[in-house]
Amino acid sequence: MTRRFDCTQEDCHFSVSSDDEGEVIHMVREHAQDRHGMSVSDKDVRKGMQAA
Ligand SMILES: [Zn+2]
Repeated sequence: MTRRFDCTQEDCHFSVSSDDEGEVIHMVREHAQDRHGMSVSDKDVRKGMQAA
């Protein structure tokens, strides 16, 4: 099943989708750190994920 995550930060249109949940988590965490200086956990990412 494809998973999708849309960044919820204001004025950010980052979105990632993949069949590989681990890949989505990895990319979202990297994005959050690089763009927003935020450290998010795997759990946080999973919470915001939706089936695409
Ligand atoms: Zn973002």
